[in-house]
Amino acid sequence: MSDHYDVAVVGGGLLGCLTAWMAARDGARVLLVDKDQVNQHASGQNAGSLHFQLEYRMVESGEEAARVAAEAMPLHLDAAAMWARMEDEIGEPFGVRQTGGLMVAENADQVGMLEFKAELERSWGLDVRTLDRSELDVVAPYLSPAIVAANLSPLEGKADARIAAPAVARAAVAAGATVRTRSQLVGAHRVPAGWDLSLQETSATGEEGTHTVRAAAVVLAAGVWTTELGRVFDADLPTVPLALTMTVTSKVPRFIPHLVQHAGARLSLKQSLDSTVLIGGGWPARLMRDADGTPAFDRKHQLIPQSIAGNARAAVKTIPALDRIPAVRSWVGTTTVAPDQLPLVGAVKGAPGVFVATGGSAFTLGPSFARVLTALISGHSSDVDLAPYDPARFAERSA
Ligand SMILES: Cc1cc2nc3c(=O)[nH]c(=O)nc-3n(C[C@H](O)[C@H](O)[C@H](O)COP(=O)(O)OP(=O)(O)OC[C@H]3O[C@@H](n4cnc5c(N)ncnc54)[C@H](O)[C@@H]3O)c2cc1C
Repeated sequence: MSDHYDVAVVGGGLLGCLTAWMAARDGARVLLVDKDQVNQHASGQNAGSLHFQLEYRMVESGEEAARVAAEAMPLHLDAAAMWARMEDEIGEPFGVRQTGGLMVAENADQVGMLEFKAELERSWGLDVRTLDRSELDVVAPYLSPAIVAANLSPLEGKADARIAAPAVARAAVAAGATVRTRSQLVGAHRVPAGWDLSLQETSATGEEGTHTVRAAAVVLAAGVWTTELGRVFDADLPTVPLALTMTVTSKVPRFIPHLVQHAGARLSLKQSLDSTVLIGGGWPARLMRDADGTPAFDRKHQLIPQSIAGNARAAVKTIPALDRIPAVRSWVGTTTVAPDQLPLVGAVKGAPGVFVATGGSAFTLGPSFARVLTALISGHSSDVDLAPYDPARFAERSA
């Protein structure tokens, strides 16, 4: 046994990097491992939206689904406050701007949904209000005249997904964490002091070897690999994988200061600090699978032309000026949600000292997930009620 740590964090996406940084800052001996490179997967492929309102996917199935999704609002509020101070705490900028987010509506049904949603969100403490068309003429004149109302949340905004996690990883290293890339957790064995973890590693010259470390606590921050990684600890961690489409335009003088989402369509867009417009919102791509149907996350997933076109149509319908701006690139990213749209956050049942977080908008919620995980690994209870996000809830329901 060569290395002993207080905590091993598995996964170098934004969530793993934040957890490693927070735990190292608190004085823990931290190891962060990633089977590939830091920020190579969802955290570096996503839209960088910081959305604290309920998203379209959470309200499209009706009011009851929205009420359930709203149970994650304490995590949203926590994350909103943490994003506001994160660049200062990390010590370098990564494009955080909380200049407000609009969820727009085009018809009476959508306006009714926005009003219901705003009331629900306010009941959980989120600052959100419904603007009518005359207010939108002042606040967001770039919106199509077809938009009749919007919910405005002043806390919403964006961060640059290409650089956020690497900046946090650097801060973690500066705080004393060890980072091992091309280091895949493939086995775990329970010992009195925690876990012996087998890491399969590939050196820069391509040589493969196995390295064993001991950690008192383990954090699973493995995104779409969470279910697979759970099996290493004999744990059932159900997640639903999604392959999603993103498109970026060429640069255009800044005219969209807000994060824009739609109350009746899959659309989320924003203008980045580099002046491109990032368009997404949940349009599907083709998730590659092995012959037996198992998702093959390490393969290249495929764009679906109809999704790119549908996403572009929704964007132009909402902001007509986008019609004149060329799209320059589309890509596929993969991510997870849980079957009930709430995240999985907490202790892994049957695996003492192992904790997990994933599901949904784990870029936006990365800071609050990481804060909760850092409290749990150091033996404290979370100040957020974790019962709705219990990773064991699906097994308990089916029993
Ligand atoms: C197209 C798209 C757009 C999105 N837009 C947004 C958005 O605007 N806002 C938002 O909040 N969310 C968005 N999301 C969701 C968000 O990107 C993810 O929820 C978030 O990035 C997950 O971060 P993570 O750190 O948990 O996982 P990841 O970034 O996926 O990192 C997991 C890491 O674990 C590593 N790993 C896995 N298994 C092992 C193992 N056995 N050993 C070692 N390492 C391992 C992987 O290599 C990977 O680097 C979007 C997702 C997609 C796909």
